[in-house]
Amino acid sequence: MNIENKPTAADWMPLLDPSQIAVVLVNTSHPGNIGATARAMKNMGLTQLILVDPEDFPSGAATARAVSAVDILENARVVGTLEEAVADCGLIIGTSARSRKLPWPMLDGESCADKVFREHKTNKVALVFGREDSGLNNEELQLCQYHVQIPSSPECSSLNLSAAVMVITYELAKRARHQENAVKLPEDDFWDQERATADENERFFEHLEKVMIAIRFHDPENPRQLMQRMRRLFGRIRIDVMEMNILRGILSNIEWHIKTREERKVPPRGATIEQLEEQMSQERT
Ligand code: SAH
Repeated sequence: MNIENKPTAADWMPLLDPSQIAVVLVNTSHPGNIGATARAMKNMGLTQLILVDPEDFPSGAATARAVSAVDILENARVVGTLEEAVADCGLIIGTSARSRKLPWPMLDGESCADKVFREHKTNKVALVFGREDSGLNNEELQLCQYHVQIPSSPECSSLNLSAAVMVITYELAKRARHQENAVKLPEDDFWDQERATADENERFFEHLEKVMIAIRFHDPENPRQLMQRMRRLFGRIRIDVMEMNILRGILSNIEWHIKTREERKVPPRGATIEQLEEQMSQERT
């Protein structure tokens, strides 16, 4: 046996590119959890920590809990909003112990690790964690394309924040270790364009909403769940930058046509979301 070629415990580490994966903590109240998160990240070979509006940072309690991961705290980026934290990311995954009224595409720890591992070389990834007391709110979760729920006992489903970070990052490192045995999926094959970033998606949703209001499909006074459903739809598809440009071009052309129709005083036609929903419920009964 050639002992020199024996794999070492950390052979998987070069398979993960830590510059592409950020752990984002939203509005953390206990600095000890920030330190423990930094330590968990360093244990698993990650480096990029983003803190959204932390209540108490920098802090001696965070430094004490970080132990040998103080460098991660020193390099942490502090921002005001989650939008800012994830602006340049093409894959955004939110974590929550709670299921929501409007279900979102769900992952568990393993499927999350698989997705992040496969995509992180071509898309910046954000793993988003919520407040200790109330988690992530619906708007924050809807900025994410997927939700991860760590399966846990229904009697005590919510993990400590840094324990949740530990589980998710451990699964990611485990996925890298098991790369040798991984099945190759068709989506691993070459793709000609990068995925749109969160920032590009946000500008698209603003444009889409504006046009849907202009064509009277969407009533901002009675929004229902239209924009949430649109976010979920595009989050599932994860369009690339070229597709995004095409859609933005179509929206701009629609705006141009509305303007010229208005100039010619042509009345609007077509159904609103409200009429469509009524029609669908009548068809079902
Ligand atoms: N009471 C809060 C729990 C917050 S725990 C709530 O109901 O959401 C703090 C954070 O840890 C959560 O926002 C989430 O990011 C993560 N977390 C805790 N338990 C989790 C679980 N079972 N699955 C996924 N994330 C979890």
